[in-house]
Amino acid sequence: MAEVRRTVVVKLDLDDSDATLLHKTVEEYLWACNYVVRDAWQDDYKLTSKNKLHDRTYSDVREQTRLQANLVQSARNRAAEAIKGVIARWKNGKKASQPNFTTPSVRYDKRSATFHADHVSLSTVNGRIEAEYVLPPEGDNPQTTYLRNDEYEITGATLQYRDATDTFFLHIGTKADVESEIPDAGDAENSTVLGVDLGIEQIAVTSTGMFWSGDYLNHRRREYERVRAGLQRTGTESDHRTIEQIGDRETRWVADYLHRISKAIVQEAVAHGCDWIAFEELTDIRDRMPGAKKFHMWAFRQLYDYVAYKAEAEGIEATQVDPAYTSKRCSKCGTTLDENRQSQAKFCCQKCGYEINADYNAAKNIGFRLLRAGQKSPHGGATRHLALKSGTLNVNGGYSPATQ
Ligand SMILES: [Zn+2]
Repeated sequence: MAEVRRTVVVKLDLDDSDATLLHKTVEEYLWACNYVVRDAWQDDYKLTSKNKLHDRTYSDVREQTRLQANLVQSARNRAAEAIKGVIARWKNGKKASQPNFTTPSVRYDKRSATFHADHVSLSTVNGRIEAEYVLPPEGDNPQTTYLRNDEYEITGATLQYRDATDTFFLHIGTKADVESEIPDAGDAENSTVLGVDLGIEQIAVTSTGMFWSGDYLNHRRREYERVRAGLQRTGTESDHRTIEQIGDRETRWVADYLHRISKAIVQEAVAHGCDWIAFEELTDIRDRMPGAKKFHMWAFRQLYDYVAYKAEAEGIEATQVDPAYTSKRCSKCGTTLDENRQSQAKFCCQKCGYEINADYNAAKNIGFRLLRAGQKSPHGGATRHLALKSGTLNVNGGYSPATQ
C-alpha cells in the first residue's frame, strides 16, 4: 500500500455577509501569525518550539482576536514553520529576514472546518459559515477524482483569497491508501526518479537537463500589475469590471502555460522510464526563494498539482522532498559547501571543479534526495536510479549509459 496525497482547488460560493466574515477572519489570523513571529523572533535566538510558543502567546492571541482555539493554534503552527524555513535558509547559506504574513490565507483543519461532498462549514471570527463549492460537472477532473471519491479522505484545507477576481478558494488536501499500481520503494526493483527544481528565472529544470524559462510568466505578471495599477488610478465602475476580466483572462493564460509545462515534464519522465517525479517541498518555498511573489507560490503549486495529476495517469508518482542543501551540494561528487553556489545561475564545486548551471545541479540533487530516501526503506532491496541527460545514476554512484 502507498499513501497518495492530492490537493484539490475549489471556488467558494459566498454571499456578501459571509465573505465579509471571512475577510475579517483572514485579517485576524494574519495578525495572530505575525504576533507569534514577533514573540519568537528574539534578538539572540529564534523560538521554533510549538509548545513553547503556545505557552507564550496563546492567551494573548485569544484575548486580542475573536479567533477560535483551533485557528489560534493553526496561526501559531504557521508562524513556527515560517521561522523554521528561515533557519533552513540560513543553513543553506542564503539570506532571510523575519517572516511577515500578508498573503490572505488561513489554514483549516478538521476541527476548525467540517468538509462535506459539496459544501464546507468554516470557523470565523463570528461563529461558523457554510459555503457551497463551485464544482465542474462530474468527469475527468481532480474535483471528481479526489473530492467526490470516498476512498480519498480530506485532511484539511487552506482558504485563499484572490484579489484579482475577488474570490475565495479552498485548497483541499486529500489522501488515500492505494494498492500500488503506483510504485513505492518496496515493489519497484528498478525504479527511476526524475528530479525537478523550481525557480523564478527558470520556472522548472529537470535532472535530465530540460529547462523552462520563467520569462513568460514573469513578463505576464508585470504586465498584468501595470495594467491593473493604471486602471485602479482611474477607478470607475467599468474599470473595476475590466480589472476582473483581466484577472480571469490572466489566470487562464498562466494556467494554460503551466498545463503545457506540466505535460512536457510528464512526457520527459515517461521518455526516461521514470516511476517518480521529485519536487522540492513546496511549503514555505517562498521563504527560501528571494524575489518570489505570491504569484510564484501559486504557480509552483499549480504546476505541481498539474504534474501530479497527469503523472498519475501514466502510473508515475509525484512527490516532494526536503530541499535542505540541494542548492549547495555538488551533484557529481557529493561535496556540500557554501562556496559551491557561486551566483544565482552558477554552481562550481570547490572540491572536484564541476561547473554546471545551479538550477540543473539542484534538480539532480532533488532527485538524488528521493533516491537516498528509498535506500532507507524498510522493504530494502530496491534500487532507485536518477534519470540524467543520458543514462542513469544509482545511489552508490554507479552510472549506466542510456541504451538508446
Ligand atoms: Zn564536486
